[in-house]
Amino acid sequence: MPLLRDLEIGAMFWAGRDTLPRIKSLGVRCGQLGIGGDVNLNGAVEHWKAEVAREDFSLITVVCAYNGEDYADIPTVQRTVGFIPPATREEREARTKDVSDFGAALGVKSVACHIGFVPEDATDPDYVAVLGMVRRICDHAARHGQTFVLETGQEPAHVLMHFLKDVDRANLGINFDPANMILYGTGDPIEALGILASKVLSVHAKDGDWPPRGVAGALGTERPLGQGSVGMERFVAKLKEIGYKGTVNIEREIENLEQRYADMAMAVKLLERLRG
Ligand code: MG
Repeated sequence: MPLLRDLEIGAMFWAGRDTLPRIKSLGVRCGQLGIGGDVNLNGAVEHWKAEVAREDFSLITVVCAYNGEDYADIPTVQRTVGFIPPATREEREARTKDVSDFGAALGVKSVACHIGFVPEDATDPDYVAVLGMVRRICDHAARHGQTFVLETGQEPAHVLMHFLKDVDRANLGINFDPANMILYGTGDPIEALGILASKVLSVHAKDGDWPPRGVAGALGTERPLGQGSVGMERFVAKLKEIGYKGTVNIEREIENLEQRYADMAMAVKLLERLRG
């Protein structure tokens, strides 16, 4: 595995969609491997172990996504994403533990997911149920020496911080995604990064514009890095200010693969310049 520098630029990529040589050709040597709900984990360890060794690539995080999730608009996200929907809790908890085991077999030290919209009210039954799930997953991950990181964006920073304190597990942290704060209209990402600084274990570099005014439930629009409302210069400066030394993983979520790779390669160059 390559020795990584502070603020090493990486990529967020997906099993079954991306290949490691293609991702490495963007100019990165580390990243986060997304595991969709439909990925068969049988045999996946051998495959990825061989790929990572051949490409001398460092896997920072395994990221879980789940069957049945839909990011069409905010109400659909609330209904389908993460640990909030009661009907899929049991299945998704088991899947997260399986992905944690998969990551452990590859020597990956962190597991991530979107847990969905955490309610503000700590007595809300959904809050209480999700708190229990997160504790059990943290304890499972801890046995592998892994952290469990929650992707930001679907709730304001202070709500997330309160939830983290309530869960009260030393290996629980945050994968900070500045664009999500904007896409979901939850607050200024740079300010949020300051509030959450002590809990940030990994970072996405993604950009986007705010939701359109007056359209209830609409999400904002993801944009190529540097072309949205995050302010990449401000973002990288804030990462340095809070003393963050981990990886900065470029995430681009559009369908068109060639455009996605072109945007990611451009993002590598932009971040290299900003990192200095
Ligand atoms: Mg993200």
